[in-house]
Amino acid sequence: MASTSTAPSLYDPTREQLAELLTGEPRYRLDQLWHGLYRERATPSELTTLPRALRDRLTEALPLALRPIAESVSDDGHTIKWLWELADGSRIETVLMHYPDRSTVCVSTQAGCAMGCGFCATGQAGFERNLGVGEIVEQVVRAARVAAEGTPSRRVSNIVFMGMGEPLANVDRVLGAVERIHGDLGLSARHLTISTVGIIPGIRRLAAEPLPVNLAVSLHAANDELRDELVPINRRYPLTELYAACEEYLAVKNRRISFEWALIDGVNDSDRDARELAEAARSLRAHINLIPLNATPGWPTRGTPPDRVTAFRELLVGLGANATVRANRGNEIDAACGQLRAANAVPVSAPRRRTLPH
Ligand code: SAH
Ligand code: SF4
Repeated sequence: MASTSTAPSLYDPTREQLAELLTGEPRYRLDQLWHGLYRERATPSELTTLPRALRDRLTEALPLALRPIAESVSDDGHTIKWLWELADGSRIETVLMHYPDRSTVCVSTQAGCAMGCGFCATGQAGFERNLGVGEIVEQVVRAARVAAEGTPSRRVSNIVFMGMGEPLANVDRVLGAVERIHGDLGLSARHLTISTVGIIPGIRRLAAEPLPVNLAVSLHAANDELRDELVPINRRYPLTELYAACEEYLAVKNRRISFEWALIDGVNDSDRDARELAEAARSLRAHINLIPLNATPGWPTRGTPPDRVTAFRELLVGLGANATVRANRGNEIDAACGQLRAANAVPVSAPRRRTLPH
């Protein structure tokens, strides 16, 4: 298995590991520290309830994992994307999206991705490494802090594991982060969604976990011939087996699955595609999210034009399937689905700089 980060960062240690670090301190220090990190989302240097020497020791032993390189804002301030550098120089991105009824953070789970879907900017750039629990959790904490400090102050309620990387190819750390986000940061697992290209052993692992997270499957094609081409991992985990794994997930969890479908002009937007997709979605009672393909540098094909997107959705609905078109966020800052590639190293500009813990 690919390695993760080099040294532990602030959100890596479990409560037990932090207790070890606090050996020799009064017992209540652990509660103070845990509360400060996860409930107040403060860094050790800000925890004035702790003695100065301890704050310094913790700051040195547990540095933050993410160094901000660039921050881009779009949609009238409702979408913010960060480009971060990790301790070993790898780069990842995180997106915060405010909607009228909720604020969602889209987190990365790997630096790069090994799955090689040609239409995805992350896939085009290749794989670097898995992220550790602390690197995933810190993306949520940092974004939540910015949301809380904004005007008006907003509470992050939803997390989607839809940034760079394939979450179920890094399933242990992703599940570690899910536990931390659900249990310690206090977000409900029902508001967490893991998106997968269809890694079947990962879906089974998720089904065996007690927490009720949502599963989104990036389908994009509902016949093996086309899916082999669009999503190469389909050759290893073909559709019949993928549907069976979804069926099992549904049986165990009884939580609605969603199918993601990036609509690619002339590739997967025909009437036949709609019929195949509707049939698969109906039998699994899945919700379909249609995403008109976003532009990426390394893929020549365009997204389906708006009229055809509407017609495709209507076809699906007419066939008895449940389908919506996903609002496209952050397109002009390359923060939309499939556009994350950690390449636009525009420095953080002074007026945009926010109070970030450092
Ligand atoms: N690796 C996971 C999660 C990250 S990708 C997965 O593939 O599910 C998040 C979503 O964006 C996936 O549904 C993915 O298929 C989709 N996507 C990738 N490239 C895209 C593009 N160029 N336009 C629209 N959606 C895209
Ligand atoms: Fe990886 Fe998902 Fe992009 Fe495919 S779509 S290359 S699985 S991030």
